[in-house]
Amino acid sequence: TLMEPLLQVDQLTVTFGGIVALRDVDLRVMSGRTTAILGPNGAGKTTLFNAVAGVVTPSSGRILLGDADISAERPSIRSKRGIARTFQITQPFSGLTVIENVMVAIVSRGVGMAEARDEAADYVDFVGLGAKLDAPARTLSTGQRKRLELARALATRPRLLLLDEVTGGVDRPSIPEILDLIRRLREERGITVLVVEHNMEVLFGLADDAIFLNRGEVVVRGSMQEVAEHDAVRRIYLGDG
Ligand code: ATP
Repeated sequence: TLMEPLLQVDQLTVTFGGIVALRDVDLRVMSGRTTAILGPNGAGKTTLFNAVAGVVTPSSGRILLGDADISAERPSIRSKRGIARTFQITQPFSGLTVIENVMVAIVSRGVGMAEARDEAADYVDFVGLGAKLDAPARTLSTGQRKRLELARALATRPRLLLLDEVTGGVDRPSIPEILDLIRRLREERGITVLVVEHNMEVLFGLADDAIFLNRGEVVVRGSMQEVAEHDAVRRIYLGDG
């Protein structure tokens, strides 16, 4: 149902040695909406993604997906439940072709090769790489690699997609197409999106809701518009003050 949080983070604290990367962070991501995680370098944005994906272990707090407490689950189990992520630096298998890269993710769900190939071709088409099906991943441009990342994430059949700097390093003319693609993930596939992104223009085109983190703590939360108008956010993102 639409107004329930798909993801709920309660009082999450993550520390690395003496560094508190996140402190008592609360977050509710509503189903079918796109939520931006804002904050300056070192604010804890990537750590929050890592905690939700299960690759860092919180020292306290709880993470729920729907009604399920996933706090203690391994990343592979969370992936099966429908949490997928992309990385700031894309990580395709550079020696494999575009479709093979996507097939790897499908086959690992236990699907046979022939079926996996058909399903992979679907995702590759969806992200606009149909013409590159058999191209080695290493020959792709940055923008194309970002699309391949999205296709690989789709291959896990996500309910919740964590996007880390999905337009980072992409040349300006290619950005609108990637944004359009992400909007279609929500509209056509019902995927809930959490996004970390430094480009404000991009965020305005994508996010409904936002939180602003600073030094591991939530400073502001609300609609994307409300959060963007907050002084602390303007100082960081628009160079005001
Ligand atoms: P950026 O915008 O630069 O990517 P961020 O908001 O994603 O920053 P994080 O990468 O989550 O911030 O880092 C939060 C804090 O935790 C920083 O002080 C960082 O140095 C520290 N940190 C993150 N990961 C680790 C780790 N694996 N080991 C030690 N410290 C870490």
